[in-house]
Amino acid sequence: MMTNLTQRPVRVSRLDRTLIAAVVLLSSIFPVELFSNTPPAPRGSDGQYSGKQGQVLVVKVKGEEQATEVKGTFLSRTIPFFREFRPEEPPGYIGLLGIDMQDDPGTYELTVEVKQGEQTKHLSFNVLVAKEKFAVEHLTLPKEKVDLDEKAVARWKAEQQVVQQALAENSRLKLWHSNFVEPVNGKRTGIFGSVRIMNGKPRNPHNGEDIGAPMGADVAASNDGIVRLTVDHVFSGKGVFVDHGLGFYTMYFHLSEVLVKDGDLITAGQIIGKVGATGRATGPHLHWGVKLNGARVNPYSLLDLPFKNGVTPPPTATVSTSETTPTSQTVPVKE
Ligand SMILES: [Zn+2]
Repeated sequence: MMTNLTQRPVRVSRLDRTLIAAVVLLSSIFPVELFSNTPPAPRGSDGQYSGKQGQVLVVKVKGEEQATEVKGTFLSRTIPFFREFRPEEPPGYIGLLGIDMQDDPGTYELTVEVKQGEQTKHLSFNVLVAKEKFAVEHLTLPKEKVDLDEKAVARWKAEQQVVQQALAENSRLKLWHSNFVEPVNGKRTGIFGSVRIMNGKPRNPHNGEDIGAPMGADVAASNDGIVRLTVDHVFSGKGVFVDHGLGFYTMYFHLSEVLVKDGDLITAGQIIGKVGATGRATGPHLHWGVKLNGARVNPYSLLDLPFKNGVTPPPTATVSTSETTPTSQTVPVKE
C-alpha cells in the first residue's frame, strides 16, 4: 500500500515532487489496488455464507477503523453496509443480504468494497443459494379478478410504474433500530414463494406472506421508517409501502383502511391500517411483503434479525454484530 509521502524526512527535488504529485493524483483517481503488486485475493477468500431462496443473511466485515463507505454487490444488487455499536462484540460492519425467492440455486460471489479515504479494500465471499421447497397453491377466484380486460391491464401497468418510481427513492439512512415485529397477530399461512395456480393457470409466485386476521384488526408497522407510498391498486387493494432505509422496504396490502399518508415518519408497532379484503383477495387477511435491496424475501426472516438490543452508534464508536444467520421456515398449506 502507499506510504505516507508527506512524512518523508528527506529533501525532495523538483522532479521528485512532480512525480509524487502525479502518483498522488493518479491514486486519487484509480483504486489503490492498481498500484499494488499483490494479485487479487481468490474468489470467496474472505468467507462463506449460505441460505435458502427468500432468506436474509447477515454478513459481517471486521474493521477497527471507521470507513468512508462499505458497500457490497451480489447478483448485480447493491448491498449497503452499516456500523452498529454493540457492547462486547468486535468492531465491524453489517450488511443484510436478501436472497430473492427466484434466485437460481448455486454459488455466487459477494464482493465488498471498503473505502477508507483514498484507499479501497476489496473483499470476496462465496454465497451458496440453496433451493427452498415452496408450496403449490390452487386458487379459485372470480374470473374478472384473474383474467384482466385491456383497461385493467393498462391500469395495472400504470400502477406498477408508480410503485417503481416511489421505491427508487430510498432513504440513505438506516431508519430501523430495534427488532422487527409481526404486523398482526394472526394465522400465518406459510405461502411465501408458493407457486400459484389460479383458476387452473400458473401465475406469478406469491411474493409475501398472508396472515389471516379478522376484518378491521389493527395492522402495525414492523419497524421504524417513512411511509414512501400509500395506494389503492387493482391487485394489492389499499396498501402501504414503508421505507426503512438502506434499500429495506415492508409492504402491507388488502387493507380496509389506511391510517397514514405519504411522507409520514412512523415507529415500530405504530398502527398504520386495518385488515381488509380490498384488491385481489378471497377474504380478510394481511399480505405482508418485504423487498431488501431489490430481493423479495420472506417477511418472517425479519423477526430473526439480530437487532433486539441494537443501539445507534455514537459517532466514532466501534462496533458489531451477531453470528446469527436468520432462517425462515415456511409451512406449506394446501387449499
Ligand atoms: Zn398475499
